[in-house]
Amino acid sequence: MLPLQQTYAQALPELCVPWRADLPPDPEIVWLNEPLAAELGLDLGRLRGPEGMALLTGQIDGTIAQAYAGHQFGSANPQLGDGRAVLLGELVDTSGRRVDLHLKGSGRTPFARAGDGKAPLGPMLREAVIGEFLHATGVPTTRALAVLTTGERIAPRQGVTPEPGALLVRVAASHLRVGTVQAAAWHHGPEVTGRLVDHVITRHHPSADGPLGLLAAVTGAQAELVAQWMLLGFVHGVMNTDNMALSGEGIDYGPCAFLDVHRDQAVFSSIDRSGRYAYGNQPGIALWNLSRFAEALLPVIDAEDPQHAVDAATEVLEGFEPAYLAARARGLAAKLGVTGGQDEVLALGEDLFVLMEAQSVDHTGFFRALSAGGAEALFADPEPFRAWAARHEALHDPSADGPAARANPLYVPRNVQLDTALRAAHLGDPGPVLTFLDAVSAPFEARPGLAHLEGPEEGGDRFLTFCGT
Ligand code: AMP
Ligand code: MG
Repeated sequence: MLPLQQTYAQALPELCVPWRADLPPDPEIVWLNEPLAAELGLDLGRLRGPEGMALLTGQIDGTIAQAYAGHQFGSANPQLGDGRAVLLGELVDTSGRRVDLHLKGSGRTPFARAGDGKAPLGPMLREAVIGEFLHATGVPTTRALAVLTTGERIAPRQGVTPEPGALLVRVAASHLRVGTVQAAAWHHGPEVTGRLVDHVITRHHPSADGPLGLLAAVTGAQAELVAQWMLLGFVHGVMNTDNMALSGEGIDYGPCAFLDVHRDQAVFSSIDRSGRYAYGNQPGIALWNLSRFAEALLPVIDAEDPQHAVDAATEVLEGFEPAYLAARARGLAAKLGVTGGQDEVLALGEDLFVLMEAQSVDHTGFFRALSAGGAEALFADPEPFRAWAARHEALHDPSADGPAARANPLYVPRNVQLDTALRAAHLGDPGPVLTFLDAVSAPFEARPGLAHLEGPEEGGDRFLTFCGT
């Protein structure tokens, strides 16, 4: 239906293999993201017809599986890659932006290791919901174009009931990750790494000057991204280097979650036993990942003088913290509706988070209440909050009253409600997830019929998430 391009496969044949998706026995669209389809210039009628179904199920020529490596929970894994996914190809959308169309759940590939190559419906819908919510709140993210069932029943990831097999058609600025550069450096050496760096620069960071410039651009983009996650109470859950995109978009929302109660060391993922990817650790982990990225780049930063390469890369990485703090202060000012110097705003924010944690206050609920009035009622002991509120009042920016409300979403993919909706889909009723998608796509204005998605639910705070793998 479309001539998709494969500029990546042409530039880096060493880092992919031609690969075809399995033929699903009885594919059916569960959700089609119509606004995104329009942005991509795809005709909805054709997309729902035979040609579109061929595209959405990967039954087209020229598809590939991408190789990558990565650090998973701190340990190097040299052989990762699209184990259950294919890159359908690239297209240029109606605004001139080149994006990847990618298919997850499409069967085993040469990178599948012990995996079955399949994806269950629940986690694919979960990824769709998270992507739409983050997009609606202005956070760079991959998005789902469609979720389909395949007609298969696949081995359960948890429990004993076979799950409906699914496909996620994903749109991303690209699927190039820190782990892609690690694979180039570890297995192919400076020539291929240099060629990959050129490709990433052209595609994502055209003003970057060489590998150091790329490191600086990715560092800046990740600082910005993680600052936004933190302010929304988002916990990615599996920030391995293969799940960190070079474009600066968030990617791979397997075990992610949103805070209910504000808790710095909140961990939701069942596989994150040490709490490596706890909420409050995320900025530090982003920098750790960027340091692994820098290491992979060292031979192309300066092959002749390794010490110079290390010094230059270190200087760039030192820019992460100021970039993160500047983004955090900007975001906090918008959420709190205040103006002031960066340090003043940051201190106001840090003190608030300490208070919220001490009194088990809901993260999302607090910021909504602050815009709407009534925040004090959330604190069992109001005294310390009153002292904070006086400082807040002194920095209040009346011109930001509207924007403050727009920085603080009402409908957030909360753990218990999302899980309830995904369970219904698993049992054959997609209705609640479709309602969820609708709610989080316009998360700021209260709408009738969605009250059940507003607040925290019992059990949300100690919720356990699973990778779906
Ligand atoms: P993740 O941490 O979920 O992003 O995935 C880590 C690695 O495991 C990637 O190389 C995936 O392609 C691979 N993987 C995850 N699930 C499966 C599966 N069911 N079959 C094959 N490979 C998988
Ligand atoms: Mg991944």
